[in-house]
Amino acid sequence: MAVDTAMGVISHVRADFADGRDSQHLPSLVMQVQDRLKANGLLMQELLADAGYSNGSNYYFLEQRGITAWIPVFGMYKPEIEGFPYEKENDRYICPMGKPLPFKGFDRTQDGRLLRNYWAAPSDCRQCSNKSTCAPKARCRKITRTAYDEPYQRAYARQHSKRGKQMKKLRQSTVEPVFGSPVQHYGLEQDQHAG
Ligand code: SF4
Repeated sequence: MAVDTAMGVISHVRADFADGRDSQHLPSLVMQVQDRLKANGLLMQELLADAGYSNGSNYYFLEQRGITAWIPVFGMYKPEIEGFPYEKENDRYICPMGKPLPFKGFDRTQDGRLLRNYWAAPSDCRQCSNKSTCAPKARCRKITRTAYDEPYQRAYARQHSKRGKQMKKLRQSTVEPVFGSPVQHYGLEQDQHAG
């Protein structure tokens, strides 16, 4: 269910099977809401949703459509890898011993998420005194990041900004009560929702 935060108007309702993640449904839901708003001369510029709708491709998708996402990042996401600063200009990480881990190619998880791989040189790791803790079982240290790290970083920064905290309160105070009334008064069972 989608609700506008200004007036509490329900702008979209749909049901999906429960065997997928909420985040998988966000792009098609956004397109349907956008079409309806556009038909009424309205423009969606910001979207508030809970963390169930977070994933890198969704942040990227919303950026491409000019929509600012106020969606908390998935809990496992870390904006930095401790001890391994990232060099954007060279697209590589630098390890605590000063050795580079350059980009080595893309990969996909079983559920289809796109990843970027970074590897140190085996010749560097082989002779490193940190090898037993840094890369105990592998020939070299490998880092795997989401391919959408930049949109993720921007979403993370928004989430932790003053406005991000205001938007969270806005979602909780204006959108969530709207979901409460069909549940309480009409017996609608609901799980997750976007606003
Ligand atoms: S094991 Fe490899 S990546 Fe880890 S600190 Fe040593 S040289 Fe760097």
